[in-house]
Amino acid sequence: TDPALIRNFCIIAHIDHGKSTLADRMLQLTGVVEGRQMRAQYLDRMDIERERGITIKSQAVRLPWDGHVLNMIDTPGHVDFTYEVSRSLEACEGAVLLVDAAQGIEAQTLANLYLAMSADLHIIPVLNKIDLPAAQPDKYAEEIAGLIGCAPSDVLRVSGKTGVGVKELLDHVVQNVPAPVGDADAPARALIFDSVYDTYRGVVTYVRVVDGHLSKRERTIMMSTGATHETLEIGVISPDPVPSVSLGVGEVGYLITGVKDVRQARVGDTVTSVVKPALTALGGYDHPRPMVYSGLYPIDGDDYPELREALDKLRLNDAALAYEPETSAALGFGFRCGFLGLLHMEIVRERLEREFNLSLISTAPNVIYRVVMEDGKEIVVTNPSEFPSGKIAEIHEPMVKATLLSPSDHIGAIMELCQGRRGALLGMDYLSEDRVEIRYTLPLGEIIFDFFDQLKSRTRGYASLDYDPSGEQDADLVKVDILLQGEAVDAFSAIVHREKAYAYGVEMAKKLKELIPRQQFEVPIQAAIGARVIARENIRAIRKDVLAKCYGGDISRKRKLLEKQKEGKKRMKMVGRVEVPQEAFVAALSTE
Ligand code: GDP
Ligand code: MG
Repeated sequence: TDPALIRNFCIIAHIDHGKSTLADRMLQLTGVVEGRQMRAQYLDRMDIERERGITIKSQAVRLPWDGHVLNMIDTPGHVDFTYEVSRSLEACEGAVLLVDAAQGIEAQTLANLYLAMSADLHIIPVLNKIDLPAAQPDKYAEEIAGLIGCAPSDVLRVSGKTGVGVKELLDHVVQNVPAPVGDADAPARALIFDSVYDTYRGVVTYVRVVDGHLSKRERTIMMSTGATHETLEIGVISPDPVPSVSLGVGEVGYLITGVKDVRQARVGDTVTSVVKPALTALGGYDHPRPMVYSGLYPIDGDDYPELREALDKLRLNDAALAYEPETSAALGFGFRCGFLGLLHMEIVRERLEREFNLSLISTAPNVIYRVVMEDGKEIVVTNPSEFPSGKIAEIHEPMVKATLLSPSDHIGAIMELCQGRRGALLGMDYLSEDRVEIRYTLPLGEIIFDFFDQLKSRTRGYASLDYDPSGEQDADLVKVDILLQGEAVDAFSAIVHREKAYAYGVEMAKKLKELIPRQQFEVPIQAAIGARVIARENIRAIRKDVLAKCYGGDISRKRKLLEKQKEGKKRMKMVGRVEVPQEAFVAALSTE
């Protein structure tokens, strides 16, 4: 395709403002998906995306429109997936900034807008959901205009649901988004913006060609590793893979090289050709840094090799995922995994369980602490069990700069929440008469648990949150251990602020008492800092045989009960002599 006829754009927005629904209408209007085959959120292909109604992976689709080729990239909106968004942006020249006409600008609207601006994209402001009775397009057009410095009348109005305005939006993209610029005669350079492991096809690599072209059967080099491969298939997504012979300047498509080793097609790498290699790689992306760590363990220890393989495969799909082997006295062999945030953690775990058929336990999430000992030695703690017991001079904890957007009547509730989490107010600005932006620095460790849920419940769902890493601060932290029958269970250890240690210990002991079923013997639960016990509870013993009540009763009921017990057993983990249900690990470690 002639680059002059190509328009590469993405849709960015706060979560739920309607990106995927708008993408649906575009698929339909451009005839890429026929009416009959249409289903809502067509591009959210993963089961987990469909069930949760959120987009996790970006999707690139080629849309023919008015003699042009549009490559549209639908992006995830959640704060944990900012990394995905920033990768998609690198493959585009324009961005549709979508804002719900009944909600206005929210925290991720801002975050995404700033990303798009720093990637130098042409921004098209669009109000969505104008069909809603509660829509206030005039009010929010003002808000957006004030933000990006355009006239309120420049803000387009659409409904992804009814399709109103979508045709005009596509025309606007053709007229206003710059065509890609590249050197067709230069050595090939294509940027990898996503890579997916497909069970049947191996690694599928999504690329945006910047210079030259890539062809089928050609040998390519990955510039960061020097690995060479033959391109077995090359093509575009529209909306299913359509093989072609080559991809030229500005084109967005996929490559299949038969690679099975998932680490050979890194996101951010530049692909060039062996025959006529490029000298310098493209800019690539910043490596995403994990913010939150947690242990992942197979419930059945025999599944350890499968877990390793699953993580290897998932990492290709998810460049932000980090992991290394670790052992836990309570849980056996597993992995210490690094995530971008809690949702990312939940999703990785759920995908491992679903896509690779594993049953897993994950330990309490924690952030990275830097501990400096009195003798000057420095220890980086990604796991509470690494927290040193010797003489500590300083502990540094990671901080974030948080931006909270909310109607102004919730300012009090938000400030109370942030103060309670050791936050420091940075500033406050009114975006409009009744919408305010509040900025805080907060310890990351204080927001990874339930901060977001708390924020939502205290503001009736109206506040939104975004945050960026922002250095470190000194903090007075201690490790709280939880002991069952006098034995510390490493999986339950946590690093908390000294002032909150007591409350944490009491709460955990109470929770575990509820979560761990009674056993044949008594189980004391204790919380301790070092050798000092700060809380205790007791789980009383049971003797009663569960089958006793079926005695003489009908056999099938008894069998059912036994089967049920067996099922239950599978989900149990032995900790010393104590059987702890999988849910106890999960539930005990969530703050609510
Ligand atoms: P995303 O998170 O930005 O991808 O948002 P989705 O496309 O998944 O939409 C979020 C919710 O808003 C869904 O329940 C959609 O049905 C709804 N929605 C999206 N666009 C419109 C619209 O134009 N009008 C109305 N009334 N609802 C919409
Ligand atoms: Mg979506």
